[in-house]
Amino acid sequence: MEFTPHATCEDLEHKLRLANDLQEALPLQQLSLHYQPQFETGSGNVRGFEALLRWNHPHFGPISPTEFIPLAEETGLIYSIGDWVIQTACQKNKQIQEKYMPNSVMSVNLSGLQLQDSLFFDRVCGILQQTALSPQSLELELTERDRISLKDRRIDSLKRFAHHGIKIVLDDFGTEYSSLEYITTLPLSTIKIDRSFVTHINNHYEGTVLVEWIISLARKLGFTVVAEGIETYEQLHTLQKWKCDFVQGYLLSKPLHEQELPLFFRKVEWKQENKF
Ligand code: C2E
Ligand code: MG
Ligand code: MG
Ligand code: MG
Repeated sequence: MEFTPHATCEDLEHKLRLANDLQEALPLQQLSLHYQPQFETGSGNVRGFEALLRWNHPHFGPISPTEFIPLAEETGLIYSIGDWVIQTACQKNKQIQEKYMPNSVMSVNLSGLQLQDSLFFDRVCGILQQTALSPQSLELELTERDRISLKDRRIDSLKRFAHHGIKIVLDDFGTEYSSLEYITTLPLSTIKIDRSFVTHINNHYEGTVLVEWIISLARKLGFTVVAEGIETYEQLHTLQKWKCDFVQGYLLSKPLHEQELPLFFRKVEWKQENKF
């Protein structure tokens, strides 16, 4: 377990308690997935969803994945939790395809550690078979924070997924120094521009120029481009103008509990029928 130098005793105690409680979170059904819709920027059509993990702690209430995913990585729980996420997200996507949207794509966030597990690829293929989903229905999101270097064996694992037809997405693009090396080295199909850049659109000259440049560069290199964290119509219209392929953000929809999906699709259908 990693301890930061400025952490107080209470911080450490809290961290240890959470790490301990996390072991029980899966069997006690405290983990769940929320699904944030992703939209085609030009047409406004739904393209699919990103699965986002939630932990409802019995004492502390909802805990952010940015807090407990690092604990899952440090304790090795990320392997079982990661498998559960993919299994659950694929089952949900199968239901969505059968009920509402035959081509729905589900994006799942990965931890770099999962790629070190040599049986991971086979397990993911097993889940796709078992849920009768095509590999094209699943995307795996990886962040630059995982620091996959040029000679890293995880690149082979990523290539296996890519050859099998499972798209690899680079999440939080632009937040780490390695961005450009990454996009020329990894077998990526999609680049997801981080919310911190999207926030700059139209209220910060250099930031605006940078996002426009990233989108045009990525498209020239043949990547699909997604922007995350869209919160204003101004941002949306600018991204439409710049031909960003897909968008995600609170403006269009927050991550939804599975019980909110039927209402979401009813609204989508109603908008289509009424043409707006
Ligand atoms: P991420 O993959 O970059 O996910 C986007 C985050 O931004 C999500 O936070 C989402 O709820 C939030 N978000 C979406 N639209 C907006 C917006 O318009 N405004 C603002 N302010 N926020 C928005 P969340 O769900 O708290 O997840 C945080 C991070 O935790 C994720 O970032 C991802 O890196 C990680 N994570 C979540 N689920 C999993 C998982 O199943 N496995 C792994 N390894 N990591 C996960
Ligand atoms: Mg993500
Ligand atoms: Mg992101
Ligand atoms: Mg993020």
